[in-house]
Amino acid sequence: MILLGSTGSIGTNTLKVASAFGLPIESLSAGKNIALFNEQIRHHHPRKICIADSEDLPKLDMSFIKSHNIQIFSGEEGLLEMIESSQSHLAINALVGYAGLAPSLKIKQCGKKLALANKESLVSAGWLFADYPITPIDSEHFGLWYLHAARKIHKLYITASGGALRDMPLADLSSATPAQALKHPNWSMGQKITIDSATMVNKLFEILEAYWLFGISDIDAFIEEHSAIHALIEFVDGSITAHISHADMQLPIAYALDEQQAKHTRLIPRFDIATLATLRFSPIDVRRYPVWELKNTLLAYPKLGIVLNASNEVALHAFLDSRISFGKISACILRSVQYFESIKTHALADIQDIKALDSEVRAFSTSWLNLP
Ligand code: NAD
Ligand code: MG
Repeated sequence: MILLGSTGSIGTNTLKVASAFGLPIESLSAGKNIALFNEQIRHHHPRKICIADSEDLPKLDMSFIKSHNIQIFSGEEGLLEMIESSQSHLAINALVGYAGLAPSLKIKQCGKKLALANKESLVSAGWLFADYPITPIDSEHFGLWYLHAARKIHKLYITASGGALRDMPLADLSSATPAQALKHPNWSMGQKITIDSATMVNKLFEILEAYWLFGISDIDAFIEEHSAIHALIEFVDGSITAHISHADMQLPIAYALDEQQAKHTRLIPRFDIATLATLRFSPIDVRRYPVWELKNTLLAYPKLGIVLNASNEVALHAFLDSRISFGKISACILRSVQYFESIKTHALADIQDIKALDSEVRAFSTSWLNLP
């Protein structure tokens, strides 16, 4: 397989599942954590590797790479070349952020199986994947896929944990620190998605992701604090089914990698059914999560996802660098969506249009936040 973003949270879990299933790794890519990448290369023996930044080439374990005849790529173009030159049919995109979009499009162009953790690809450009089958690696969308049946669907539901700041007094919220916002109660994940969970941006992303994956616009979300119920489907016959499991990404990853083995293997612990008595659903409160007010607008005009994603990336990184307060992330997104409202009916027919708008939104958000 090809695995993009192997040193991240999804990437490392993917390598664990690949080892458990005995699946060979042809190509691996990583960003800045070259120490871990060297370990992965020595352990998994890929034939091709790519790093994000050519400046880091001297940090690679060249004696191992040369003695095993491993081909090296670097940079954004290098990543696309590595995908194109790989034989494997299965490609897992576990990159974080907008940087994952061009590789997703390349995987599609090569006709490979796209196992997608990089939800930002769908948020920014879901319509470019309209006729292409995607295997989702996101617990809620895996849950929806698992529940999907040949019955008429009335409505989809996904759940949210509420993130790291769900119990913080409202008055303190806007000045929460990065360290506080990074303490997720249920999941161990990368930094960006952990902050996206605290702002509820992640659930807006997942609403759009569900929309593009399942073609249904009647979708809602609730807070379920244990992250035990991930998704529900309401059918027109009046039944509702729910997907319940421990919060462990190895389950969706296993199905994306090898459905036949996943069906017959226990990779995650059994779920204690007695826990169900302690679960409750609560609505998502816009006072705590101001971006949630965008949910219906985004479902009506899903191309606004580009604006949501780009303004969020600018503000989130400024927050992690302690240059803006936590409250400014949501404020920046709401202002940017309002400013770019007219694009909601634009065609944005190709990647050039999307790139141009993405840059425009980043420039607007940077200036609105008074960032250098
Ligand atoms: P992460 O930050 O832990 O890992 C990201 C990986 O991408 C790393 O290998 C990093 O080196 C690489 N990378 C980052 N920027 C890059 C760039 N510009 N060029 C090349 N490589 C780059 O992130 P994660 O938590 O594993 O999340 C990955 C994706 O999966 C995100 O889109 C996230 O929303 C989604 N996702 C994650 C989880 C989870 O449990 N972590 C669950 C559902 C969905
Ligand atoms: Mg999710």
